[in-house]
Amino acid sequence: MENTLDIPKYTMNEEEEKKEILRKYRALLRALKPKLKPGSKEQVRVAFEIAAEAHKTSRRKSGEPYILHPLAVAMICVEEIGLGVRSTICALLHDTVEDTDITLEMISREFGPEIAKIVDGLTKISNVLDANSSQQAENFKKILLTLTDDPRVILIKLADRLHNMRTLGSMKREKQLKIASETVYVYAPLAHRMGLYNIKTEMEDLAMKYMEPDSYHYIAEKLANTKRERTRYINDFIRPIKEKLINGKFDFEIYGRPKSIHSIWNKMKKKGVSFDEVYDLFAIRIILNSPPEREKEDCWKVYSLVTDEYNPSTERLRDWLSNPKSNGYEALHTTVMGPHGKWVEVQIRTKRMNDIAEKGLAAHWKYKEGTSEENRFDKWFQQIRDMLAAQDTNSIDFLQDFKLSFLAEEIYVYSPKGDIKMLPSGASALDFAFAVHTAIGEKCIGAKVNHKLVPIGHKLRSGDQVEIITSTKQKPKSEWLKMVVTTKAKSKIKDSLKEEKRTIAEEGKSILQRKLDGLGVPMNQANLEEIINFYKLNSSLDLFYDIAVKKIDLRELKDFQVLGDKISAPKIVKPLVEEKALTTLKKDKKDNELIIFGESSDKIMYSLANCCKPIPGDDVFGFVTQGEGLKIHRTNCPNAARLLANYGHRVVKTKWVKNKEISFLTGIKIIGLDDVGVINKITNLISGTLKININALTIEAKEGLFEGNVKVYVHDKDELDDLVSNLKALPGIESVERYDTE
Ligand code: MN
Repeated sequence: MENTLDIPKYTMNEEEEKKEILRKYRALLRALKPKLKPGSKEQVRVAFEIAAEAHKTSRRKSGEPYILHPLAVAMICVEEIGLGVRSTICALLHDTVEDTDITLEMISREFGPEIAKIVDGLTKISNVLDANSSQQAENFKKILLTLTDDPRVILIKLADRLHNMRTLGSMKREKQLKIASETVYVYAPLAHRMGLYNIKTEMEDLAMKYMEPDSYHYIAEKLANTKRERTRYINDFIRPIKEKLINGKFDFEIYGRPKSIHSIWNKMKKKGVSFDEVYDLFAIRIILNSPPEREKEDCWKVYSLVTDEYNPSTERLRDWLSNPKSNGYEALHTTVMGPHGKWVEVQIRTKRMNDIAEKGLAAHWKYKEGTSEENRFDKWFQQIRDMLAAQDTNSIDFLQDFKLSFLAEEIYVYSPKGDIKMLPSGASALDFAFAVHTAIGEKCIGAKVNHKLVPIGHKLRSGDQVEIITSTKQKPKSEWLKMVVTTKAKSKIKDSLKEEKRTIAEEGKSILQRKLDGLGVPMNQANLEEIINFYKLNSSLDLFYDIAVKKIDLRELKDFQVLGDKISAPKIVKPLVEEKALTTLKKDKKDNELIIFGESSDKIMYSLANCCKPIPGDDVFGFVTQGEGLKIHRTNCPNAARLLANYGHRVVKTKWVKNKEISFLTGIKIIGLDDVGVINKITNLISGTLKININALTIEAKEGLFEGNVKVYVHDKDELDDLVSNLKALPGIESVERYDTE
């Protein structure tokens, strides 16, 4: 993979630039050649010329001429996604409407309305009026709206994003974080859903490179260092299988493929193991060239050959031949015990399946032509269309909802009659009920899963057979919202609850009316707002409802001041202690400065996020919260991706300034050999030699090993790193690791 972190300074003169642009353009035409029809080459040229002229004066952050970006995006569309002429034209024009004088009308006149529509879908929304909703969510929604007309929009958008990720090195740090976060949060799962595995993997790896550079480089280096050893193992593993395949007269390809850095990192985190303990650093892939009618049979024959040689794990057989994933993925996966007792994953598929696995949607279309197979993508698009029609447009939860119900891995469950339903993983019996029919969902009181009675919130697993039990007396409840993940179930439950709430609220409204009559003031907007704010509610509906269900006792109304026909709430004095403690910035005393925020560094209230406990020196960003001032998070905080992707506009650039007067509590976990005097050695080093204050220390010994947890006060990350490396140097210490104190 190219190293985008250290891009060389851009040095090219105008002449060289022109040559480079032409070279890229010709390469694009060559790649497109098999798809060119008479006249279409001319159209591509016109699109290229329009784009080149329009972007003539602009440059990318790296210093390159801007036109190289649309050219690269078009190339990704053709080579890596397998799209054709029209998509190439759209990719070339994708940034013109947003950044130059070109208008959609001009594009429509030149290339027709279909292309204009796709380009429109690719044009970002620049003026978002509602400052509260995330601009990213709005843009994303717009892409989806167009996607439902033409899926190519999303594919070109993914190509655009991939190229931006590949060239992220020249962006500012906070931009890098924001773009990388969005990418892991939305675009990589979307690429996955579109069946573009290679693009998904590259996006995740690139995002990790910017969000967690240390871990990224650590794993990359480890992978490089162990490559020879791995290659030898793979060859040993493959040899006997290859022989069998040749004897069986198969037309095949077999190779070992390393797993991505990001997926290895995920395994390490999820299972809490070190790099050396991750067993599946690679997978073996067998690709068969089989005629359509023999595909399935051949795959199973090869499975049988492989498992004759190596013992399979019974739990790890995945049959996506009989039930392809909804993104079109078909293959047979098994995990077998290889030489030296190592588990090895083997993936068996045909060339056609491999094309679909790599090029996703576009390849799917190619193979679909002439077959009567029902298109899983069409089904998925229809579901998105339904969701967009049902959503109220301002929902800030939009991205979250979309992710949960459309980008999650999926499970298959069966109705008692054997009909199959696909649901996102995490779906409950109640989700299934709503998927069958709204009326069944609303009346659901329980379910039988594999003939056993379960509650409605029961989480389903792939292969479950589900029978829903209903009662005419049942109706949706607000707790149900926590039991479902599909948008369909959620929006139907919300609709029904709102209806009921409105009916109940009517009663609260008349109670309030009587009280206000008693005070001699009218129930107008101003007075209602005063009361709503006082009780910290969101709407008059909430107020009426809370009154009706007696959650609000209107006794406090007597403390309101009445002036003419206006009422005003009594002032509440809030304790200010906490805020005071956070004000540590003093502009005049430079040495005391803790953090500088952006350009102006006047008094700013901030606090350190509890989720990741940053200390000075950590890679951090500031996040403007509602009501709690600025929160400082580590960039590798578990919440970082979600915050950055959804609320990029609330992220503030932060950096640490050397500070020796304020200390931060942090924890380190030490594992080593249990030895007399080990506690002494550790405490001597920490508080004696390094003069660091210990806040708490616990040591537990077990079977010759000890695990120590030490909480210490350090000034910054340098001091902590120093402490960690000193501890590691002590005899008998196995590992030293930082953890977040509670
Ligand atoms: Mn672009």
